[in-house]
Amino acid sequence: MRVKMRPDEAINGGYKKRSSNPDSEIWLQRMVEQGWTAPNWPKEYGGADLDKNEFVVLLEEMQRINARPPLVGMGVSMIGPTLLEYGTEEQKQRFLPPIAKGEASWCQGYSEPGAGSDLAGLQTKAVLDGDEFVINGSKIWTSSAAFADWMFCLVRTDPQAPKHQGISFFLLSMDSPGVSVKPIRLINGTSPFYQTFFDDVRVPRENLVHRINEGWEVGKRLLQHERSGLAALASADAAGPLERIKPGNDFAEMVNIYASLSDAELRDSWTDNEMIKQALLLTKRRVVEESEAKTPGAATSIFKYIEAEYVKRQLELQLKTRGTQGLGWNGETFSEEDISMGRLWLESKAISIAGGSNEVQLNIISKRVLGLPD
Ligand SMILES: Cc1cc2nc3c(=O)[nH]c(=O)nc-3n(C[C@H](O)[C@H](O)[C@H](O)COP(=O)(O)OP(=O)(O)OC[C@H]3O[C@@H](n4cnc5c(N)ncnc54)[C@H](O)[C@@H]3O)c2cc1C
Repeated sequence: MRVKMRPDEAINGGYKKRSSNPDSEIWLQRMVEQGWTAPNWPKEYGGADLDKNEFVVLLEEMQRINARPPLVGMGVSMIGPTLLEYGTEEQKQRFLPPIAKGEASWCQGYSEPGAGSDLAGLQTKAVLDGDEFVINGSKIWTSSAAFADWMFCLVRTDPQAPKHQGISFFLLSMDSPGVSVKPIRLINGTSPFYQTFFDDVRVPRENLVHRINEGWEVGKRLLQHERSGLAALASADAAGPLERIKPGNDFAEMVNIYASLSDAELRDSWTDNEMIKQALLLTKRRVVEESEAKTPGAATSIFKYIEAEYVKRQLELQLKTRGTQGLGWNGETFSEEDISMGRLWLESKAISIAGGSNEVQLNIISKRVLGLPD
């Protein structure tokens, strides 16, 4: 568990898709016993009740031994922390322990064919019928929908109200009758996301989070948890995706030999990019320390923006340094790492779109962090 993790070895929670490496299960169980899959959650919900300082110590120790994250995904990173702030006691007891134990996996039902950056323009509807809401409509780009047990989603419950005020936040089982998913293929050959359809899907009233028509507030807070990248912290992988794209040892050596010695421009670019990463990690730490809440607010858009730029640039640099070896799709002339990096390079183009595009993050930073006028 101290060597670099391949994506298919991660555990996202739930049993529809599990790790390809049995050791990941043992690692997960050991961490669950300590409450360290969600270290700063209360013990009663599966966490370890660590305060901010203890949490930082744990992270540093995990990094020191190069430990892998035992559990990843939208449960620990997004809906868990949101329910801690907005859920009822009953919802916390019901949903949080299965997340912390890696027993339930979640997906995000936000975007729609006509609502991406303008998320509040969403049209999927819910109508109250007795003690249940009946949902109709569709969501798009739903990552991991086929393997998720649950979805958290934003749905319109008052079509007459101003657009931000008629939205509610629901939790729905992906096994409910009327839910179906269709894969969407990416340029790198994988299908990580889906279009999700709701056809008279019935959701019990107790699965509404916070108050009816006040879901926008909950939905926005969840996005801050998503953009903070602190999920990666909760899984003892402080640099998160930044570390996961790091090349293997052979490549690092090649960078040393060719880039650092012979090509001044490449050497400068590699150095610049590493400096950006160090500055980002320090900024993250400072913002977390300064914030009252466990996850900071609008400043998380800075993390999201810089991280996306760093990852894209890092992969561009890898491609440049590898030369033609970086363009392998398959075949014996390319190493497994060459091929996976080439595909990651293509996939990385999506990072500055997922979770809100870079332009949207810049809008948030100007208005909510720098206080510039609308
Ligand atoms: C890998 C990946 C995974 C994803 N997973 C999920 C998921 O699990 N669940 C989910 O709900 N969604 C998911 N999404 C969708 C994602 O949230 C949207 O793609 C994103 O919010 C952008 O919306 P859009 O694609 O509709 O683009 P649009 O909103 O149509 O934007 C098109 C372009 O216009 C620009 N633009 C739009 N408005 C403004 C503005 N006001 N100011 C400046 N520029 C603007 C954008 O920056 C962009 O360049 C995922 C996306 C990707 C790429």
